Amino acid sequence: MRRHPNASRKLAKTRGRKAERPRRCDASKSARLRSSGTTSETELARYIRERDEAQDEQAATAEILKIISRSTFDLQTVLDTLTKWAVQLCAADRGIIAMQDGDRHRVRAIYGHSQKAWQYGLGYLLTPLDRGGVTSRVALEGKAVHIPDVLADPKYTRIDNYRTALGVPLLREGTTIGVFTLVRNKVNPFTDKQIELVTTFADQAVIAIENTRLLNELRKASDELEMQVQERTAELRRSEAKFRDYAETASDWFWELGADYKFTLLTEENAFGSNLAHPIGTVCWEHALDVETEPEKWRLLRSALDSRKPFRDFVYYAMGANDSPMYVKTSGKPVFDVNGEFRGYRGTGSDVTAVVRAQRVEASLRTVQAELAHVGRVTTLGQLAASIAHEVTQPIGSVRNNARAALNFLDRQNLGEVKAMLECVVADADRAGDIVHRIRDHIKKAPPRKDRVDLNEAVNEVILLARSAITENGVSVQTFLTEEPLLVQADRVQVQQVVSNLILNAVEAMGSVEEGPRELLIKTEQHQPNGVLVAVRDSGPGIDPEHLERVFDAFYTTKSNGVGMGLSICRSIIEAHGGRLWADANEARGAVFQFTLPNAENS
Ligand code: ADP
Repeated sequence: MRRHPNASRKLAKTRGRKAERPRRCDASKSARLRSSGTTSETELARYIRERDEAQDEQAATAEILKIISRSTFDLQTVLDTLTKWAVQLCAADRGIIAMQDGDRHRVRAIYGHSQKAWQYGLGYLLTPLDRGGVTSRVALEGKAVHIPDVLADPKYTRIDNYRTALGVPLLREGTTIGVFTLVRNKVNPFTDKQIELVTTFADQAVIAIENTRLLNELRKASDELEMQVQERTAELRRSEAKFRDYAETASDWFWELGADYKFTLLTEENAFGSNLAHPIGTVCWEHALDVETEPEKWRLLRSALDSRKPFRDFVYYAMGANDSPMYVKTSGKPVFDVNGEFRGYRGTGSDVTAVVRAQRVEASLRTVQAELAHVGRVTTLGQLAASIAHEVTQPIGSVRNNARAALNFLDRQNLGEVKAMLECVVADADRAGDIVHRIRDHIKKAPPRKDRVDLNEAVNEVILLARSAITENGVSVQTFLTEEPLLVQADRVQVQQVVSNLILNAVEAMGSVEEGPRELLIKTEQHQPNGVLVAVRDSGPGIDPEHLERVFDAFYTTKSNGVGMGLSICRSIIEAHGGRLWADANEARGAVFQFTLPNAENS
């Protein structure tokens, strides 16, 4: 084989660098051996040549492997080195590695002289596959193609500037991805050994390409991962900053409780002051003031914590900063780690002193209002009773005088006088009755105000006002009110007086019996066709069926301190509004008082 002049130069250089290499004969000695003409001399020359070639190959392979094995190897360098060594070791004029790119090949590496070298720069696209040429043939046949003389090859129809060509496929898993081509300008076929060498180089090129691909994929994946990590970290930072902003601006404070129930506050400044740690091993927030006065609620909290349950709106009384007591409302939820291990509690707390105080004031206000309403009712009835008493005193005094005179006449057997006196008694009694009727008529006749009143709202207000009497008597109230407002045209105060009377009567009736539940049921509904109905049911002693009508009589009472005017007045009011009021026995036990009123549109 004729060695390429370049190759000798390059190899000599490479060899010179490798100090550990076995000693080689110098060139003049080899030349002498070659020209001597004896058989042994020829053999020796061949031996030396083959050895040189082997060493050159070794040097080439070593260099290529060294480049490939670098963790940061550059594919272009590998391909350039492979092309260069192939050209030099095979004494070719030009070498090209071209990779398949659609229906063509694109030059990836090039080495050597060419008349068309200007054309074959890197990235140059070779002619399409179907247009012949050694590269196309290798690609189509998928195996090495050696054309000793292109002009003598019947299949070779192209006119090229080379005569001998060798093409070897770059195979990845059996598929041709490119072609390694060597050409000689003059006819000079490649030896089997050279074909084998180029095949090995082609394999190494594929390995390098594959490694690069894998490396790029790996890099891409790791870049993507890195980006995800960065995004996640940024997200975490953002949410941490957000949490910090909330924590710093929130009026609530945040706390954490360790698995050992050691308490830590997360917000630096808070109502307790700073630097606080409350051990609640004994379920005792150090600053709580109601542990002894309200042990039950603390016991419940402790059992919620022990059973790892969340808790909401636990209110306690505590000593705050500056030694001022305050009400604290706190909620918390248990925290578990990934293994499901209990790690403590996390929660929030807030100062609800103002709210609790306002609620207390409101509650006492309601009690006062209810008491006032009761007083008002008693006063109205009291005034009425007084006026009735005043007016009926006179006829009753007459009754008494006439009755006494009649008795005297009886003693004296003056029956005519007795009869006259008794007639006076009857007349006076009738007058007393008339007075009562007149007062009732007066109530009836006084034209009631006509406002648009929502009965549901009126009922709710009365319940609120009667709350203290209801609570005192241990009565539970249930309401079944229509969802829509129940509108009537009525005197709001009078209607509320009726409802209030019925409720207080029921409450008093239930309060008078020891046994059984004390249930008050108030229901409103549309009453066909044009009215509304209100029913007040109780579970008290009920009313004797014979007295169901009598209870509406003036002065009928069964109470020691009763006046017996309430129901009478209620009926007057309801009738003055065009409605009806009546009493019945409740289904299970107790009494039910019901009244109807015309709808707003019909009154
Ligand atoms: P007073 O409450 O002053 O007795 P009322 O006219 O309001 O006057 O009541 C008359 C009577 O009707 C009561 O004394 C009581 O005997 C009876 N009564 C009223 N409401 C009920 C009720 N819900 N259950 C049982 N009895 C009742």
